[in-house]
Amino acid sequence: MADDVGGGKPSNTGGAGHDAVDSADSASATDSTDTDSTDFADPAGPVDPLLRVRNLTKHYPITEGLLAREVGRVRAVDGIDFEVRRGETVGLVGESGCGKSTAATSLLRLEEPTAGEVRFEGEEVTEYDAAELKRFRRRAQMVFQDPTSSFDPRMTIGESVAEPLVVHGMTDGERRERIVRGVLERVGLSADDADRYPHELSGGQKQRVGLARGLVVDPSLVVADEPVSALDVSIQAEILSLLDDVQEAFGLGVLLISHDLAVVREVCDRVAVMYLGEIVETAPTDELFEDPQHPYTRALLGSIPRPDPHRRGSAVELTGDVPDPSDPPAGCRFHTRCPEVIQPDGYEFEQSVWRGVMDLRVRLRSGRFDDAVVRETAAEADGVPAAELSPERVAAAVREEFDLPAELGDDDAERVLSDAMSALVDGEVETARERLAESFGTVCETVDPPLDATPAGHEAACHLHGEPTEPGAAPDEGRAD
Ligand code: SF4
Repeated sequence: MADDVGGGKPSNTGGAGHDAVDSADSASATDSTDTDSTDFADPAGPVDPLLRVRNLTKHYPITEGLLAREVGRVRAVDGIDFEVRRGETVGLVGESGCGKSTAATSLLRLEEPTAGEVRFEGEEVTEYDAAELKRFRRRAQMVFQDPTSSFDPRMTIGESVAEPLVVHGMTDGERRERIVRGVLERVGLSADDADRYPHELSGGQKQRVGLARGLVVDPSLVVADEPVSALDVSIQAEILSLLDDVQEAFGLGVLLISHDLAVVREVCDRVAVMYLGEIVETAPTDELFEDPQHPYTRALLGSIPRPDPHRRGSAVELTGDVPDPSDPPAGCRFHTRCPEVIQPDGYEFEQSVWRGVMDLRVRLRSGRFDDAVVRETAAEADGVPAAELSPERVAAAVREEFDLPAELGDDDAERVLSDAMSALVDGEVETARERLAESFGTVCETVDPPLDATPAGHEAACHLHGEPTEPGAAPDEGRAD
């Protein structure tokens, strides 16, 4: 792991830098000598990062009918920026479905991005033709979560690891074998493992082979997508340590995709946190763990067991599903789940109660509020037919459903909520929705917060902006308009 986020390791200390690919079509391929030298000089100069992503966007059209008319878009990745420097490991982290894997496949052009720039070693990847793309695919390798599925069971490990060398034009079989055996040893396997078959290896050994196959063509960037999530916890540590070792030894830039912040903490220099297609916080790893600025990051951190119970984020519980990326919420995309969603001016809520009110509002807005279900549940609990429930009992059942107390501590707020409850009991869902919306609006649902500097020194996209733990804190001036 690089200890300086701003810089990378200047050179490799030997490794797959071996005698690299003798690719006929590659002007940049290192030569065919058997020395262990590899030049990691940056063609773009020392200032440019190895990889720079700007406004990367990947939308999938939703089509309908025989003519495949576009009726919507799944906004899997929605304009993200980040960089990976030489000798640096960057984590892209978020829940399943947040778009992090799509970001990886799009930047590698395993699928075409909808928009954005991807500069690699100073060149624009999105403008590469087929030959340039082939060279790029040697320099930027992907390591997948489940190596088993990418092995042909009829091929030996040696043949599998050598495959990328063949694809990139190395015709000398003896040389291929020498390289393969060398790289197997570099990932902690034996050279003799080249003669074994995938079914003879454990999960951890297979992931080592997966890494060997990525390294064998002497890349400068490795994109590792959940490289340890399919492994036992005891093996995970070994593979992460290996990733760290080879990153250092080979002078690689590594982009590590993971849903697991604990994994990211092990090996990453910097972290970008993704939520619903957007990056919501980015920071050096230690800083992110010490002083998270975004409520989503705090919630993710809160789900990691930690030795110090007083540390911030340890008690935050994140509920609800990630919203549909074809219809992301307006304003801050996290407002439908955010435990710290900003309260409207003029009321005094306990934050958890305010979250309950927002949950009710979100449900009403989505059209998924079903008063019949609420009545049935209450009737079953009371052992009476639903038709015999009093209006007061139905209103109480709605409050129970959203963890709202029988009465709010704030009289003005209670009046608004009571009005809405009365409307709901009368089946007037739209009236209830409007009553709550007009009185309980929050900046979080109307204004999309930009990724901006915070007092902690790194960037986050949140209206709280540095006053993270105070429920109801007003947005910073100038942020909410
Ligand atoms: S802007 Fe509002 S909803 Fe979004 S993370 Fe910040 S407090 Fe939560």
